[in-house]
Amino acid sequence: MMRPNQARLDLSAARHNIALARELAPASKVMAVVKANAYGHGAVTMARTLEPHADALAVACMEEALELREAGIGAPILLLEGVFEPDELAVAAKAGLWITIDNDTQLAWLEAARLARPLQCWLKVDTGMHRLGVAPARAAELCQRIAACRNSLGPPVLITHFACADELENDATRRQIALFEDCGAGLAAPRSAANSPAVLAWPEAHYDWIRPGYMLWGHSPFGTRPQPNADRLRPVMTLCSAVISVREVAAGEAVGYGASWVAKRPSRIATVTVGYGDGYPRTAASGTPVLVNGQRAALAGRVSMDMITVDVTDIGPVRLGDPVVLWGEGLPVAEVAEPAKTIGYELLTRMPMRTPRVVA
Ligand code: PLP
Repeated sequence: MMRPNQARLDLSAARHNIALARELAPASKVMAVVKANAYGHGAVTMARTLEPHADALAVACMEEALELREAGIGAPILLLEGVFEPDELAVAAKAGLWITIDNDTQLAWLEAARLARPLQCWLKVDTGMHRLGVAPARAAELCQRIAACRNSLGPPVLITHFACADELENDATRRQIALFEDCGAGLAAPRSAANSPAVLAWPEAHYDWIRPGYMLWGHSPFGTRPQPNADRLRPVMTLCSAVISVREVAAGEAVGYGASWVAKRPSRIATVTVGYGDGYPRTAASGTPVLVNGQRAALAGRVSMDMITVDVTDIGPVRLGDPVVLWGEGLPVAEVAEPAKTIGYELLTRMPMRTPRVVA
């Protein structure tokens, strides 16, 4: 008998989610962001699933793009962080990749390169994230230089990234949009700004290309806060495990490392064979919901490397082998992430290879 842990992947959910992104931004092209192993889901599986429904894919870096090319993915792929050294430009040209120009150094490399064929470039403008990109006041000048460069396939796409698009009450996104509008005015360049929260909540920022990542995996970038249309997303990954032990503990007895959870009443505790070594967050607090036999029970005590303990006193009989869902279908990942003081993005992306991904 194998350890019963699986990250089950529902590929039809991914197709549904990208269709929703398209529906919300009908005038935009869709770039599916599959960086970081498609947020832990498996880059090749997810790129193959989404390629027919996307206009392009995006990854962080060359290694991620080449993994997809080697697997036969032919769609345009944008390197969101551009290249880290000039030699990568020839590799990008050979593999037909699109590059982001984030700074003067990358532009100088592009201008100096001798490439077999020109590259489609995206010029990143820093409208307020202050992480990557050129000052908005320089966008016009750099756009012209890229358009005139023999190694570029004409004018770049202007790209910016939002810092706070998931905070509707915060004015930062409005300011970023205004700066992006200003610097793009009069330029013949297509534009791209919207990550998942902006696809869902900022239609004025959809522009020519949307760039959803997280929403494609079926989770709301707004976490447990309600947001129109976010409830239409369907989770792609369901993290499943099983009960391997059940015991009664008397009131006053403690459970797990550090004896942090103490039974307030006679309690039934189910041990589940999933722990932080399987991607379940160690910081998850007692009380975090866990689905046992499809019913909500509560994490009781600290998360171990390979196991958790769950208070199943209130949910009827529980036996060895009974199915457990840690997040996914029936339990949004945000309900686990938030009590663990993190975000669903991190839980999905950090899922170790120890947990097999299985297409359901
Ligand atoms: N665009 C860029 C430049 C990104 O770095 C990311 C992810 O961090 C995305 C788009 C996708 O963001 P999200 O996963 O919130 O949709």
